[in-house]
Amino acid sequence: MEDLYALSESELSARLTALGHRGYRAKQIRSWLYERGAASFQEMTDLPKHLRETLEASFTLGALVVESEQRSKDGTVKRLYRLHDAQLVEAVLMAYDDGRRTACISSQAGCAMGCVFCATGQMGFARHLTSTEIFEQAALYARELQQKGERLSNVVLMGMGEPFHNYDAVLEAIRRLNRELGIGARHITVSTVGLAPRIRQFAEEGLQVTLAISLHAATDAERSALLPINDRWPIAELLDACRFYVDKTGRRITFEWALIAGKNDQPEEAERLGRLLKGLPCHVNLIPLNPTTRYDGAPTALPDASRFVEILERYGVPATVRVRRGIDIDAGCGQLKSAVQKRR
Ligand code: SAH
Ligand code: SF4
Repeated sequence: MEDLYALSESELSARLTALGHRGYRAKQIRSWLYERGAASFQEMTDLPKHLRETLEASFTLGALVVESEQRSKDGTVKRLYRLHDAQLVEAVLMAYDDGRRTACISSQAGCAMGCVFCATGQMGFARHLTSTEIFEQAALYARELQQKGERLSNVVLMGMGEPFHNYDAVLEAIRRLNRELGIGARHITVSTVGLAPRIRQFAEEGLQVTLAISLHAATDAERSALLPINDRWPIAELLDACRFYVDKTGRRITFEWALIAGKNDQPEEAERLGRLLKGLPCHVNLIPLNPTTRYDGAPTALPDASRFVEILERYGVPATVRVRRGIDIDAGCGQLKSAVQKRR
């Protein structure tokens, strides 16, 4: 059985011809898949019955198997998918009051970057996902929404893994989100720990994707202690690549900052960050740390987070404190997988 989501139109057409059907049906089938979000072959009512039977016997509508699923009170859905080789990856769907429906998807099983406070980093690296495995996490949520008359509007690559460590597959997945699910580049966000050469390469792709940079500290010593990859591409080099991205794309950059109590949430640190980002078109997302088992740090209290925002504002750097969605269902990077493994 072959996964239908893994085939391009011409590949599907060739398969159909080989199975004794008309190749032009490929277009029709793909329209059911992507434009109408069909979840079964029976729904494809304008296809001849014998073709539907052939499809049923030869193809699957997705290769990802739901290992576990949790639904939060705030409407967040969190899934752990099992891949063909038993690797587990997370994909989250978030529903916002303004109608946005955002899927947060993974780019790798595990991660090789070893950021100390991150549940995925603590697991280590298993393997890269294929472009289809990345794309399909979003496509399956899109399909479920289409079945309810809703639409997946945004995708963020902020799940497990470092997207720019799996550059080609991520780029292909983004192109497919764009082409097949109709999600505009401006509604897609790639979050990176800061692989400077890949940021520059990404700037040259001619896409209007939002780039998010996991910064978390304003000095190299502190950043290297949290994100070891900073030794390879320190802050100055990272920010040069960010300026290049802004120049090439005209897009402002999002900086992510996990607020850790007593560690990177002090007024002096906010001042340093303000000086660092002053004048760069950007936005800072402050996210109180989500505690993980192997990192002993606590989230910053709200009043301290607000003070941090005020200081940044004095430097003309806009910042927002983000509420964590799905906090009741372990919906932090890599945290569902850790929780499921613990329960086993
Ligand atoms: N590898 C990419 C994308 C996945 S992580 C990256 O690092 O950017 C998505 C975001 O969650 C990153 O900003 C990451 O630093 C942050 N993050 C990871 N663990 C966290 C935790 N325990 N609490 C808060 N944010 C965390
Ligand atoms: Fe990897 Fe991102 Fe986690 Fe760092 S924060 S270990 S780059 S997934």
